[in-house]
Amino acid sequence: MTIIQTARYGMAQEALAIVGGNVLTQTGLIRADVMVEEGIVTAIGLDLDLPVAAKVINAAGCVVGPGFVDLHTHLREPGKEQAETIATGARAAALGGYTAVVAMPNTDPVLDSAFVVRAVLDLGAVSTCEVAVAGAITVGRQGEALSPIAELAKLGVQLFTDDGSGVQHGGVARRALDYCRGLGVTYAEHCEDNAIAAGGVVHEGEWSAKLGLPGQPASAEEAMVARDLLLARELGARLHLLHLSTQGSVDLVRQAKAAGIKVTAEAAPHHFTLTDATLQSYDAVFKVNPPLRPDHHVQAIIQGFLDGTIDAVATDHAPHTKETKDLPFDEAPPGMLGLETAFSLTYERLVLGAKMSIEQLFQVMSTNPARIAGLDRSGARPYGHTPHGELVAVGNVANLVVVDLDATWTVDGSSFASLAANTPYEGRVMHGAIRHTVLRGEPVVLEGVATR
Ligand SMILES: [Zn+2]
Repeated sequence: MTIIQTARYGMAQEALAIVGGNVLTQTGLIRADVMVEEGIVTAIGLDLDLPVAAKVINAAGCVVGPGFVDLHTHLREPGKEQAETIATGARAAALGGYTAVVAMPNTDPVLDSAFVVRAVLDLGAVSTCEVAVAGAITVGRQGEALSPIAELAKLGVQLFTDDGSGVQHGGVARRALDYCRGLGVTYAEHCEDNAIAAGGVVHEGEWSAKLGLPGQPASAEEAMVARDLLLARELGARLHLLHLSTQGSVDLVRQAKAAGIKVTAEAAPHHFTLTDATLQSYDAVFKVNPPLRPDHHVQAIIQGFLDGTIDAVATDHAPHTKETKDLPFDEAPPGMLGLETAFSLTYERLVLGAKMSIEQLFQVMSTNPARIAGLDRSGARPYGHTPHGELVAVGNVANLVVVDLDATWTVDGSSFASLAANTPYEGRVMHGAIRHTVLRGEPVVLEGVATR
């Protein structure tokens, strides 16, 4: 059985021993070594008999857990390969501790056909991180005709979204939710009512007024959250809400979950670490959609993570070239890098700052997103995808990350594996670092350096 899996999944053949770490298992964090053979965890314990040929990697002082899963990555290929490619984005992901990412469909062409989706999955299959795809809900993300959702679902696509914009027409959203429900896949929404947002490029409030920049109110997001929750309730459909950023959104999801609506939600690190006061610099590196908000929204997002209203940290990694981000603020595209800083920001803000446990951090960065994306054991796994998000256990595929909680490092966008450098955290000292990432038993990051 193991041999069949090895052949099918392209597992690493070399035995690997991860020694000296605290391992996140079903019985909690235990001090143990982890043995990996042919891509599978074969032993967990102390004083293991290591094969002579085993490659030994040092995890002393570190936590060994399931590799992270990002629900929201913009890889830019096809169409904007000067900003990011699948290969460079996957390398950035591996350096960020991710073993799987979901590529968003707002590429050029849009990921709305089996032909383009297959091309992305093929490129992802040879990269340093497993790449799943979120398919577009509507053809060309135009918000009108539904894309061939059934055909894409057959390729293993589990999430459908027009991310980059919300589905404006309530009737189209309703039909798509119903269709997704019938197929057992998940409708995911970028919640933004364009009529309410009215072209605003920042949050409408104190700073938009002071800076003279057109603002969009929190209700532009919340109105669509409310609409979709009502539709999901009525249809019994599963709904995933992307990058929530306001207090009202968190409140709505909290009530919806209490009422039994099948909803999950994610939030991005920049929405729980940065406020719209950063806009004083007029630097478009802080321009993102949904926009950065005042502190009470930031606190509500943090609270949403602590009480389980928000299920997952998602990066919304959005690479842009220097030329485009250097445009005047209202012309520059929204978006910021996220893959290589997400773990440290989550560790700092939610664990050190808000007393979330390390176990919970792995829930919101690995187990929950893997489940939402169908990248856990339950999902269909074409293209060599293996299960992610599982606590470390004998018999599991070795998709692992080794994190050093005591390490500090300084953000330098120019040194990122990502082709772009548009990080809003330039020069910031970060706490907690990725030491090693293991994909299907192969160390793709060793001592913080990508191996390929
Ligand atoms: Zn979005």
